[in-house]
Amino acid sequence: MPAISPHKPYRVGRSRTGLGLFATKPIKKGAKIVRYFGPLLDSKKKKDDAIENKYLFELNGRWTIDGSVRKNIARYINHACKPNAESDVSARKRKVVIRAIKKIEPGEEINYDYGTDYFKAYLKPIGCKCDACEKKRRKQRAEARAEKRRLKAKAEKKALKKAEKQAAKRKPNGKLLNGKSKHANGKLVNGHGGKSAAGRIASGISAMAKSRPGQESRASA
Ligand SMILES: [Zn+2]
Repeated sequence: MPAISPHKPYRVGRSRTGLGLFATKPIKKGAKIVRYFGPLLDSKKKKDDAIENKYLFELNGRWTIDGSVRKNIARYINHACKPNAESDVSARKRKVVIRAIKKIEPGEEINYDYGTDYFKAYLKPIGCKCDACEKKRRKQRAEARAEKRRLKAKAEKKALKKAEKQAAKRKPNGKLLNGKSKHANGKLVNGHGGKSAAGRIASGISAMAKSRPGQESRASA
């Protein structure tokens, strides 16, 4: 871990994606946090243009900051889609400053939006791990679980209906059930008015003598 002056309002620490920069003191909205710095690369120079790493900060068509140097503490700041800081770019001065865009509390991770190009190239393929995206994924998973539960309940209801229908169909001949008609349970269930599948079967049993479809409720009343 890099040495950081205790006067600074941040420290490097473990984050969801590896290392990150965390506030150690309250940081006011609009306050400069840290400069993003490193050697300036000139895209007109072949040697400069060939350099490739994750810490290149493009200022404009020509100039890029190579932020991969260890002293560049700002390179520890992770991307977030809903960040609490921003990169304030002065292309004319070839200078980048990370600035708070809201009040940041001690312990909070500092982050800024790396921009669309970086997101498409590096984050989209692996899935962005920022708080906003994690929250979105959690919500989607919860919704998927709720949908699964809903479908399961629907299937169970359908199965129950089917069972009821079959029980009702079996009732008129009643021979299968007749054997159970002396069961003590039959009378108890009968008292429920034949609304459940079991009830219908039971009421069918008692109504067996004058059995006509659709008359079980009167028969059991
Ligand atoms: Zn994100």
